[in-house]
Amino acid sequence: MDILVLDKICKSYGDGEGQSRTVLQDVSLTLAEGEFLAVTGPSGSGKTTLLRIMGSLLEPDSGKCFIDSEDISGCRDLPGLRNRKIGFVFQDHRLLPQLSVLQNVLLPALAGNKEASEDTVQYARHLLEYTGISELGQRYPESISGGEAARVALCRALVMKPRIILADEPTGQLDHDNALNIARLLKTVSRDFRTGVVMVTHSEEVAALADRQVSLYRLNNKQD
Ligand code: ADP
Ligand code: MG
Repeated sequence: MDILVLDKICKSYGDGEGQSRTVLQDVSLTLAEGEFLAVTGPSGSGKTTLLRIMGSLLEPDSGKCFIDSEDISGCRDLPGLRNRKIGFVFQDHRLLPQLSVLQNVLLPALAGNKEASEDTVQYARHLLEYTGISELGQRYPESISGGEAARVALCRALVMKPRIILADEPTGQLDHDNALNIARLLKTVSRDFRTGVVMVTHSEEVAALADRQVSLYRLNNKQD
């Protein structure tokens, strides 16, 4: 079953001088349950734009995005949809320095609530164990390594049991071995949780670990 469908997505940005630059033109793709997809392409080819559209953080100029068969352009509660169905992982991990590792993982569960439920805390601990960092729960982001921070970010993305993980260059700041390990972990996650995973990467070696790859290229705009 497809959990994410993009249908003829187009997106342009104004260049601030009255011209617009087309970044995505008629991009269509699907992501199946449990599928691990790598998105590659040169810098500026629109990978982040595409991921933000998939995550309902950015509206396309035209085309449709369906998550679990729901056309998200008709969704009245996009923050709620994101919180329930999508987990985000960023290149710089975006952990909050004033919170412990466990509190960082629990952050999405706090949306609107003062405290996470005991079940959620248990689940967060389970995720730390699953990703191999069970001993780090009480540590703070400043005292963990980049590879560990990437794992924390992945746990935080998983804590709401999302249907889809969107990861924008999650291995971009990691050394070679750590990068491959995080990509392998994403693959395991897609299998074990039946989560669809979309990972943007520059590395061919990292992309090769995915089930499928799609490549974006820079469009030639008239003014180029
Ligand atoms: P990638 O992630 O592949 O490097 P992006 O999606 O970040 O590509 O950007 C694609 C193109 O769109 C780039 O030329 C970038 O400068 C431009 N762009 C991205 N975001 C904006 C924005 N908010 N306003 C104007 N131009 C943008
Ligand atoms: Mg990018």
